[in-house]
Amino acid sequence: MSQRRARLPLHTQVLIGLVLGAIAGLIGSVALEPKLLKEIGDNYAKPIGNIFIYGIFMVVVPLLFSALALGIAELGDVRKVGRIGVRALLMTVLLSGIAVLLGLAAVNIFNPADQLTTEQKSQLVASYGNQEEAAKRIEAAQAAKADDPPLFGFIPRNPVKEAGRALEGGLLPLMFFSLVFGIALSMIEGEKALPMKQFLEGLFAVSLKMIDLAMKLAPIGVFALIFFAASQLGADLLKALGLYVVLVVGVLAIHLFVVYSLAIKFIAKRNPREFFAQMRTVMLTAFATSSSNATLPAALRAAEEDLGLPRRISSFVLTVGATANQNGTALFEGIAIIFLSSMFGVTLDLTQQFTVMLLAIVAGIGTAGVPGGSLPLIGLILTRFGVPAEAIGLIMGVDRICDMSRTVLNVTGDMTIAACVTAMEPKEPGDVAPADD
Ligand code: ASP
Repeated sequence: MSQRRARLPLHTQVLIGLVLGAIAGLIGSVALEPKLLKEIGDNYAKPIGNIFIYGIFMVVVPLLFSALALGIAELGDVRKVGRIGVRALLMTVLLSGIAVLLGLAAVNIFNPADQLTTEQKSQLVASYGNQEEAAKRIEAAQAAKADDPPLFGFIPRNPVKEAGRALEGGLLPLMFFSLVFGIALSMIEGEKALPMKQFLEGLFAVSLKMIDLAMKLAPIGVFALIFFAASQLGADLLKALGLYVVLVVGVLAIHLFVVYSLAIKFIAKRNPREFFAQMRTVMLTAFATSSSNATLPAALRAAEEDLGLPRRISSFVLTVGATANQNGTALFEGIAIIFLSSMFGVTLDLTQQFTVMLLAIVAGIGTAGVPGGSLPLIGLILTRFGVPAEAIGLIMGVDRICDMSRTVLNVTGDMTIAACVTAMEPKEPGDVAPADD
């Protein structure tokens, strides 16, 4: 029996944690005295949930640094492939930009957080007990910044110091440092760059492993966090979460079938329906694994055998794209950040939403192509707006379905870009003709 339970996939366990947590929370909210409920929440549910969340956050700095520096160093290799690289890069920025804009527009029009009343939102803030704490931390961070503030808010004088306050607003300068580090790394000759690349790869692998370990606590952590939130907010929380999933999946579908189709039809000059049919297996693999990296071999094979894309283009675009081009993730991040912020009563103005857009595009590059790779970054970005990073606990239980869907977009986006770049490039003798069309 226990063996069978151990074999349940982690995401199913997390979903069970969510459902049980919600049921227990709802029952608790009607059956228990408010005082007792608060005691259970404060003394048990919250600390248990936080063990899991903190386990993730302690890895965020090394993870972000290594993923971004490596991603950029790979993109920096763009020069080596010349025009193909530059065109792929431009398409990446264009498609990611449209993706985030779509996500932001949608969540501004239909914000699932509207399911909660203002009182419920304040209750949520108060129950996380973090509002004052967060305000204090941000104030302290700002005061600390006074001695050597990052230039224009993002060019750090002391990156180590910014790393130290990554959860209190040092995120942007840290990202900037990682970007420049990656660019410089890509400019160094192969031999000399190798040890640093290997070090970063090692750091990245260890960080991912640590996230893996923390994720083992996810079923219990999500149970505790959702119990805690559901006991305060009741069924409205579940309604908001349900609508959030519908919104994420719906907007991803629009990006896939409308934006990608237009790019495939007008830039790649192919028939979108055939294109999607030819990469059906790749899309299914992405959906099943929730991992761009795990889907890469299938994508490389399909690019050559089913779509007839020249290897000189597809191998570069798809390999770099598996980590650096994540349209679906960028779109999702826009929605998740605005949704969670407004759950905590924080409304982001236009300038802040613009910042979210930039952060989401950069975070897309720094997101590991593994299941749930974007969640730690979302937590980090939230703290920038005074929302407790623990807020990601709310979406964790329903994340698998969003993750499966956004990974399909991430991988299809790489393939779309490869097809578009192929159409822009002059044909070479060795190129196979497109399979169809
Ligand atoms: N699972 C996604 C991928 O591998 C990353 C994420 O958005 O969490 O593409």
